[in-house]
Amino acid sequence: MLQLAVALSGLLLPPTVELVYGNKQVLIKMRTFFENGTIYHGRYAAAFETCTNMVINDGLIEYLGNDAGRRIPHLSNGERVQKVDLKGRSVFPAFIDAHMHLLQFGASLVKVGLDDCRNLDEIRDTISKAAKRNPDGQRILCRGWRQPSTNRKALASMIDDIDPRPIFIDADDLHSEWCSSSALREMGITRDSPDPVDGVIHRDKDGNPTGLISEGAVFSMVWPHLIGKMSKADKMGCFGEAIKEYHASGYTSVIEMAMDQGSWDLIEDMHKRGQLGLRVAAHWIILPTGDSAGALDQVQKAIDTHTIYNLQNSPDFRIAGIKMILDGVVDSCTAALSEPYLVPPHRVGDMNWDEDIVREVAAKANAAGLQIALHAIGDAAVHLAINTLEELGASGQRHRIEHLELTRPEDAKRLGKLGITASVQPVHSDPSILGAWPELVGRERCDWAFAHRDFQEHGAQLAIGTDSPTAPHLPFPNLYVANTRLSARDPHYHSRINQRQPLDMHQVFGAATWGAAYSCFADKELGSLDIGKKADFILVDGLSHDFDAKSLLQAQISETWMNGQQVYSS
Ligand SMILES: [Zn+2]
Repeated sequence: MLQLAVALSGLLLPPTVELVYGNKQVLIKMRTFFENGTIYHGRYAAAFETCTNMVINDGLIEYLGNDAGRRIPHLSNGERVQKVDLKGRSVFPAFIDAHMHLLQFGASLVKVGLDDCRNLDEIRDTISKAAKRNPDGQRILCRGWRQPSTNRKALASMIDDIDPRPIFIDADDLHSEWCSSSALREMGITRDSPDPVDGVIHRDKDGNPTGLISEGAVFSMVWPHLIGKMSKADKMGCFGEAIKEYHASGYTSVIEMAMDQGSWDLIEDMHKRGQLGLRVAAHWIILPTGDSAGALDQVQKAIDTHTIYNLQNSPDFRIAGIKMILDGVVDSCTAALSEPYLVPPHRVGDMNWDEDIVREVAAKANAAGLQIALHAIGDAAVHLAINTLEELGASGQRHRIEHLELTRPEDAKRLGKLGITASVQPVHSDPSILGAWPELVGRERCDWAFAHRDFQEHGAQLAIGTDSPTAPHLPFPNLYVANTRLSARDPHYHSRINQRQPLDMHQVFGAATWGAAYSCFADKELGSLDIGKKADFILVDGLSHDFDAKSLLQAQISETWMNGQQVYSS
């Protein structure tokens, strides 16, 4: 006897029809036919072409057009077809976050958010209320502190009386940590603790730590400490929450920008158990050790892991390359500039790395076929990053520079020629968070900040990401800032950081999908809706068909599909 049952089997498998002959099970792939939609192919250069029908077969796009019934005769016999009436809704390729931090993002979902606090009183009040709501927690973890809100002051004594438990406050850019005295004690940081090579434990005139930890000291002291305090179950929970939140926000793929062994072990475990549910291409973080041997050892670790997990043998879970953080951020005056900051002590901001070691690390990674991602925010760091990649020659490896916040006009022109991807996070250029910039770097340098359009016009491939959790991970506000250079955080904030022309709407959608896919060599399978590509797409409500920028702030993800399977529905 024949039993017929539609089984929406494992999370990422395509829908199947389960036929049982006697006691023998046979699974037959099933088509899904989407009709009555406005389906945007999302091909990068072709603006916004649409069609109304899409057919998915075995997780891949089998047909796109307006006449699926006639073109695919099998659709008419009906028995192996699941029909979805899109009712006029818009369909786009799923987003790919070209730069993010998966574990930190998951952990941030449970931290106390200080994003909206404008001054110390509001910060104290928010922490104190959160502490009372959670009397059993062992420490109080906060995120989203914007340094200008406390005039860049961060003393333990400003928060010590709120609660005796250790208080850890992440700056919104993650490059500084504001700690209470009990937090410093818990980490064992005292006047005798030396500064790491690329970071600072800020101290008073007697050498005692004041509570502010910055740059490499955050990555080598605070992060490992806090991650060490999390159980394996906590961390798995963080990854799980991060994945759920990314699906809900319309992403099916991410490029993780600071992978380390601890996170890799956990995520590999999830991958092996089939629980990952997100395509991950990771860049292994190389931390300065003060010598080239220590850095090259870390590159070797990335190479070894890449041998097992690479584009060819594991396209959805792999090591794409390495990442080096060349400098810091403008707000804490740690981005490396070629001319000094305009505020005391009028320094230029140090490079985190010795230039020779950067070259050695890049050469080793390049020779092993890894992609190189260089974090460079200040113009001196950007210049070093471009020179380093230029010296490697035309490798075709799609090396990339992350952030590019202050790029001199002559350097902006070099990226395209050298095949360097401009990996940008428009959400960092939201003018409402850049109020301190004119005072820190002056008007002239603000004029060439965030020159995304210049990169694009001079032939660089753009990849848009969010750098979450240093900034909100949501795609549409990010695209709004990219297209308007106005604030998505504060719609009443009307000034811009400069008058540079923004990216066109089709460019911002393209850079957040196809461009991000291209940046990690996934463009043959993902990033646009084309026949033969993987069926990763989103259904969107609230976006006006003429792509009025304001409607980006109202747009909602109503469904996310991956491999032809729905992974999120609102
Ligand atoms: Zn980042």
